[in-house]
Amino acid sequence: MSVIQSILSFLSKKEANQKAPEGFCPNCWGRQEYEGQFFETMKNEGIDANNVSDKKGWIQDYADKHLTGIQLHQKGNGLVCSKCKISYRPS
Ligand SMILES: [Zn+2]
Repeated sequence: MSVIQSILSFLSKKEANQKAPEGFCPNCWGRQEYEGQFFETMKNEGIDANNVSDKKGWIQDYADKHLTGIQLHQKGNGLVCSKCKISYRPS
């Protein structure tokens, strides 16, 4: 799943209480309050679930700048966060 797809999917099922977009470290996402910061920024940009596909470029840019550091990377049988070094078993 690409970064942008993961974020779009995360936004569209916010109600589901998913901790972090797929492919990102839930620990870092939660601890650094990317969630609050992210949604605040989205709100300021006027982005919501209805126009999110028109804003893909902006979201991609945001992700490149702020979220690549907490992306999970494949390592052995699991996924590891390069920032906090926690590893996850793929679900
Ligand atoms: Zn992490």
